[in-house]
Amino acid sequence: MKQPTLGNPQNTIAVLQKYNFVFQKKFGQNFLIDTHVLDKIIRAAQISEDDCVLEIGPGIGTMTQYLACAARRVIAVEIDRALIPILEDTLDGYDNVRVINEDVLKVDIAKLAEEENGGRPVKVVANLPYYITTPIIMGLFEKHVPVKSITVMVQKEVADRMQTGPGSKDYGALSLAVQYYARPYIVANVPPNCFMPRPKVGSAVIRLDLHEEPPIQVKDEKLMFRIIRASFNQRRKTLANGLKNSPELDFEKEKIEAAILSLGKGASIRGEALTLAEFAALADRLS
Ligand code: SAM
Repeated sequence: MKQPTLGNPQNTIAVLQKYNFVFQKKFGQNFLIDTHVLDKIIRAAQISEDDCVLEIGPGIGTMTQYLACAARRVIAVEIDRALIPILEDTLDGYDNVRVINEDVLKVDIAKLAEEENGGRPVKVVANLPYYITTPIIMGLFEKHVPVKSITVMVQKEVADRMQTGPGSKDYGALSLAVQYYARPYIVANVPPNCFMPRPKVGSAVIRLDLHEEPPIQVKDEKLMFRIIRASFNQRRKTLANGLKNSPELDFEKEKIEAAILSLGKGASIRGEALTLAEFAALADRLS
């Protein structure tokens, strides 16, 4: 296998100029130009020679080259048609890579895992397009596609939201959803100068190890997430008012208040004070 050639500013600029590539803001294109960061992501993802990796948004193929050297198979899904001839060039000689020109949100990942990995769980590794971080990650969780871990570059603020617990201003529906499906672990903070062009925000690499079994038991998972969304939609309201006013829920005020009291919480408690286990208990009492 060829050693990676991309990952530094000079070679990235040479490829971009060769193809007169124009960055598309709408696709969240910020290409990595720092080999240390690339090495860190590959190490954090713990890829072995048996692994099948799904890369979302390969760009010009920088991280794809690194992944191809570490994994058995790499499937890279890229939406921008202008990048496909570039990828054919930069990935020439990496014969374990398949590039798919598609919107990742429309790809049947379970089917891909079946075709490419005999249905066994794949590892997702990506420098994500920030405008669709949440739909991509929630899609992987909710569709129950076979995924072992997700190691991704996201906005620093989003990584913080995924990892935090009750009481923090960053705690919310995303924290609870991520922690229900996976164990989050922030690997590194990455400054804007590691990308071309530079993003306006700081970034972080986060690794999510998917639980084999959820960490808590709940009778009706969908109801629990409706309750969670309702609690955080109206952050400044009490939990009872948030649930009462939600168009997604239809419980009487007395029932909501009794359920909250039975958790040992006061009437003025806010949703941001509840743990995942407490949301599950609340959903069970209301279901
Ligand atoms: N992996 C490259 C790197 O690190 O240099 C590029 C990362 S860049 C932040 C995000 C990439 O995702 C871009 O190549 C962009 O075109 C691609 N992308 C954006 N939206 C996408 C979508 N819906 N499906 C697949 N790829 C997408």
